[in-house]
Amino acid sequence: MQVRRIALLGATGSIGSQAVEVIESNPELVLCALASGSQPIDELAARFGVEHIQIGGDLTRILEASEPDLVLNAVVGFAGVGATLWALEHGVALALANKESLVAAGELAVAAWKRGGGLVLPVDSEHSALFQCLEGRASETVESVVLTASGGPFRRHSLADLASVSVEDALAHPTWSMGPKITIDSATLANKGLELIEAHHLFDLEYERIDVVVHPTSVVHALVRFRDGATLAHLGYPDMRVPISFALTYPDRRGTPVPSLDFSAGLTLEFEPPDLERFPMLRLAREAGKRGGSLPCAFNAANEVAVAAFLQGRIGFLDVPRLVEDALGEVDGAPARDLDELIEVDEEARRLAAGRMAPA
Ligand code: NAD
Ligand code: MG
Repeated sequence: MQVRRIALLGATGSIGSQAVEVIESNPELVLCALASGSQPIDELAARFGVEHIQIGGDLTRILEASEPDLVLNAVVGFAGVGATLWALEHGVALALANKESLVAAGELAVAAWKRGGGLVLPVDSEHSALFQCLEGRASETVESVVLTASGGPFRRHSLADLASVSVEDALAHPTWSMGPKITIDSATLANKGLELIEAHHLFDLEYERIDVVVHPTSVVHALVRFRDGATLAHLGYPDMRVPISFALTYPDRRGTPVPSLDFSAGLTLEFEPPDLERFPMLRLAREAGKRGGSLPCAFNAANEVAVAAFLQGRIGFLDVPRLVEDALGEVDGAPARDLDELIEVDEEARRLAAGRMAPA
C-alpha cells in the first residue's frame, strides 16, 4: 500500500479517536489534517506532526489547504455536509462515518459523486458489511439487503415505559460504545432510519429492497439476499475499529487488534422484526426517504434538534418522534437545488421542531 494522506474530520469523537488508533498502527496511513467542532486538537496535531488543523467553521477550507488522498468524515450531524460534498465533487476518496450528510444531501451528494467519480468507503458498520457482501456482484443478482439493528436499550419497553425513560437509560447502549447523538438515535431507532436512507444512496437500491431486522447482539452487521435463494451475511464482534480499518486500508484489509469470532462458548443469533408502533422514527425515515426531495434533510434536522433537547432533559423520549413527525408535516419537501437551498431546508426544519418545544 502506498502512503495515504488522511484528513480526519471529527478527530476528537468516538469514531475519530478509534481512527487515530487505526492510523497509528499502520505506517502507510499519515494524518495530514485534523478538525473538530470545539475541542482542542493541538496536542493531537503535535503528536502526529500535523500541519493543518481547524476547529469549527467551514471544513472545506482545511480540505482545500491540506490536499488529502482520503477524507474520513467523522463529524456528527449536518455540520459534515460541506465536507462530504467537497470530497464527492473532487473525486477524493471518502471514508464516510457522517451518515447525516448523505441523508440530508441525498440527490445532491449522489450527483456530486457521479461527477467526481471517487471511491466512497462506508464506515457505518452495516454499510461496510453491505459493501463487502456486494462487492463484485452484478446488481441484477441482488434481491434485497438487510440492515441489522440492536434494538437499543429499550427493545423490550412498552410505550408507557418509554414515556418516562431517562437520558442515562437512553445513553446505556447494549452493544456499541458511541458518541451521545448516535446513541440516542439508536435508542429511538432513528439511527436505523438514517441508515436506511444512507443505504439507498450508497448502493442505489429502492427502499422496497432494504429491510431492517432487530438482532440484539450486533454480531451480524448486515445481509444480502440474492435471487437464487442464497443470503450472504457479514459477522464480527461489534467494534468500529474493524470498519474504520477496512475503509482506511482498502483494499488491503490490514490487521486489527479485534479477534475473529470464537465459537467455543457457543454463539446464538436471534432476529425479530422491528416494532414501528413503539419506534416510529424508523417508519418516519422510510416515509421521508420514499417521498424524497428535501424531506430526508428535514427529518434529519428535526431529529438533531429533538435529540439535543432530549439530551438536555428538556423533552421526553417520546417527544422526539412527535416533534419530528410534526415538523415533517409542515415542510414542503421540494428538492434543494444546491447547498444553499439545502441549508435553508435544514434551518427551517430546525425552527419548526424548536418552535414546538416549551421555551428553554
Ligand atoms: P462524537 O460526538 O463522539 O464525535 C463527533 C466529532 O465531530 C467530534 O470530534 C466533534 O468535535 C466533531 N464536530 C462536531 N461538530 C463539528 C463541526 N461543526 N465541525 C467540525 N467537527 C465537528 O460522534 P461519533 O459517535 O464519533 O459519530 C460521528 C459520526 O459517525 C456520526 O455521524 C455517527 O452517526 C457516525 N457513526 C458513529 C459510530 C460510532 O460507533 N460512534 C458508528 C457508526 C456511525
Ligand atoms: Mg450503524
